[in-house]
Formats: sequence, C-alpha cells, structure tokens
Amino acid sequence: MSGSAQVRISEVGPRDGLQSVKATMPTADKCRWISALAAAGLREIEVGSFVPAKLLPQMADAAEVVRHALTLTTAYPGLRVMALVPNRRGAEAALAAGVHKLTLPVSASEAHSLANVRKTREQMVEELRCVVALRNERAPGVPVEVGLSTAFGCTLQGAVAEDDVIRLALACVQAGVDEVGLSDTTGMAHPAQVRRLFTRLRVELGERAGAAHLHNTRGLGLANCLAAFDVGVRSFDSSLGGLGGCPYAPGASGNVVTEDLVFMFEAMGVSTGVDLSKLIAAREPLKAGLPGEPVYGMTPEAGLPKGWTDASLRA
Ligand code: ZN
Repeated sequence: MSGSAQVRISEVGPRDGLQSVKATMPTADKCRWISALAAAGLREIEVGSFVPAKLLPQMADAAEVVRHALTLTTAYPGLRVMALVPNRRGAEAALAAGVHKLTLPVSASEAHSLANVRKTREQMVEELRCVVALRNERAPGVPVEVGLSTAFGCTLQGAVAEDDVIRLALACVQAGVDEVGLSDTTGMAHPAQVRRLFTRLRVELGERAGAAHLHNTRGLGLANCLAAFDVGVRSFDSSLGGLGGCPYAPGASGNVVTEDLVFMFEAMGVSTGVDLSKLIAAREPLKAGLPGEPVYGMTPEAGLPKGWTDASLRA
C-alpha cells in the first residue's frame, strides 16, 4: 500500500490560521507566504475567507490575495486556489475573484451552528443549495466542498451523535456539493472515533467523501491523521506552523502542523509532492508577517534526519 500511495495536503494556514490570530498579516506578507507554500510543492491552498470585513478584518484583503495566488499558477500549473465562504454572497465574491474551489463550513452540532453562523443546520443546507445553483450558473467547473465542523464533538454541546453527522453529510451531497469532509474543530477526536466515522462516511458517500481536517489541541492530530489514512482517506488539511490556536484551549496549538504531517507521510513512503526543506523555509515569511506569534512543529525544531532526501529528489 505505501510505496505507491499518495496523499493531497491542503494548506489552510492563510485562512484557518490567520483568522484565528488577533493580529492582521499585511497583504504583502500573505502573498510572500503563499508563494513560498506553492514553491514547496503544496498544490491546494486555502488562501482566505470571503466574509464581511467588520466580522473578520484579517480577511478583508481576500480578493487581492486570491488574485496574487492565481498568478502563481503560471509557475505551478497544478495549483488550486481555494477560499472559504459562509454563504451565497461570499461565494459570489470568491467566484468573481477567480477561485478554483469553494469550501463551506457546516456545523454538525446545532449549538455550534447557531453560535458560528447564526443559522440552524437545515438553514445552512438551504444556503448550500443557493451556492451550488450560483456555481452551476457562473463557474460550473469549480468544485464545492463542505467541511462538517464539530463532527467529533462540540465544546458547546458536548458529544455529537455519529448518526447526525452522517445524516447531515448525506443532506449536503443531496444539496449538490462535490465533497464532504469531517473537521475536528474543537480537538476532541481520537483515533478509534476517526476510524469509525470516516469508514462510515466513505461507505455512505463513496467518492464524495472528502478531507480530514484534524486539530492538535490535545496532541492527537497526527495519530488521528494516520487513523484516517488507514481507512482510506487521502486528503488532509493542515496548517504551516500549526497556526490557528483554539480559543477554547489557550496555549494549545490548533491545526495539525503541515511540516510534521509531511514528515510522517514521506517517512512512510507515502508521496505528498512537498519538499520538506522548502516547506520549513516557508516558515520565514510567516514569522516575518506575524512577529511574536507562536509557531509550532516538532520536525522544524529537530531538523531533518541524517540522510533524508526530499520527495522532489527521491523520485
Ligand atoms: Zn481548523
């Protein structure tokens, strides 16, 4: 299985990471950082979020950042520029800016849904239908992905029933979305649960089962990614330097660290297409644009093992 296995790593730092920190990274620094991520071999980058600037001033320059990221496709033709949109209005702006892919958050927990987007889950599925209709009309080639947040538990509600998660995933597919992934927004997942829920998702959704978006809040990020890989998941979200601390767990790192995730897969012989040395170098523009913000990752601190050859050189 390893040897020929391949995974897609979707870098979410410029969106998930930057929207969780208080400081706003200047647009020029965002652009330099995204260039470095593409140069490292990442081929899917979530570059921003199309939400009202008064709600998230960190994302006010999303259209400009998308425009910059699109220029990188000349040098890296396989690059897919992705943006998060909460509703039809955001989707309109993102499609006008020229994104290659849209992602929408739908909460598995009703309490989180009301707190996060002030809509019930059913209202969010209705919103999805509007976004899909808009996509069909304006940009039929642009896939729409849903990440089911709080799929593994919710800080507000507590446990989230697995039946609820699967039912909602099916409703999203019926609304016309192309992929539905599962997100451990609050860092509550454990490997047995990840294995069980992704197995069910893949049985129910087939090819429309999407990415694993896992957090490292309690130190189980990589273990959870491996559990998902073991049951067939081949698409993973992560964030450079683990940027995106969880507001409910002060001091804890947020998203799975891209550097450590790439190291794990490459060491196993699973191809990520990412050059780890260049990926570690991409931390420099991130740190420059967010001075004083903690960045995480064991691999960058330990360094690459003696004799390590990067993926780009290995083939
Ligand atoms: Zn996240």
